[in-house]
Amino acid sequence: MSEETALLERYHSVQNRIAKAVEQAGRKQGSVALLAVSKTKPVEMIAALAKAGQSSFGENYLQEALPKIAQHPELEWHFIGPIQSNKTKPIAENFAWVHSVDRLKIAERLSHQRPAALGNLQILLEVNISHEASKAGFSPDELIDAAKQVAQLPNLTLRGLMAIPEISDDPQQQRAVFAQMKALLQQLQNALPDLPLDTLSMGMSGDLEAAILEGATIVRIGTDIFGARSYPQTATQSTGE
Ligand SMILES: *Cc1c(COP(=O)(O)O)cnc(C)c1O
Repeated sequence: MSEETALLERYHSVQNRIAKAVEQAGRKQGSVALLAVSKTKPVEMIAALAKAGQSSFGENYLQEALPKIAQHPELEWHFIGPIQSNKTKPIAENFAWVHSVDRLKIAERLSHQRPAALGNLQILLEVNISHEASKAGFSPDELIDAAKQVAQLPNLTLRGLMAIPEISDDPQQQRAVFAQMKALLQQLQNALPDLPLDTLSMGMSGDLEAAILEGATIVRIGTDIFGARSYPQTATQSTGE
């Protein structure tokens, strides 16, 4: 089997898992978008998936993402990685969505640096839902205030929330955390009823089913589409601000 055939097979199998979970959740088919997380993977794989109909891709590292975006400006690019404040300008100029806004300063810079001609940048606030000291994100109790401030900023549209929960093999534990995210989004919708807060970005290769059962609208899948990553994440992270 060629590498491309294997890639497309994994892609279709992820699509099937999503469709099954959507059905099990009693939700409408098409209500969960698949974001293909292509970090560390070559542009040829992205092109093959694009040909198969995949239109949105997630990247974590700016330097790696920019040449891919330059080759495929027709695709929808989502930034999902840690954001250093000195890197916000190319993010604002090259991406359609940012999932990993973890402090107000980042939102302010993205707002200021987003070229108006590109239309609004779609924004998600990252929530530190597992209360891990090492993790980025707003704590649940500061979320509503932060959202109210982000909602005032020009050139941005606040669409909802994103989380990367602590890894767990236990589907009940996974679902409990995702259910908290759903409740937080509902609180936000109640507090800011005029905003289009329709997006919950949660669920990765190991927990996409649990996320969909609890209301995910975007699942971010890397490994189960592209295969194991070819070099460790930490080796590619650029150095501090
Ligand atoms: C790498 C990454 C993913 C994809 O994770 P897999 O387990 O490989 O599917 C999703 N979200 C974020 C933020 C990531 O960094």
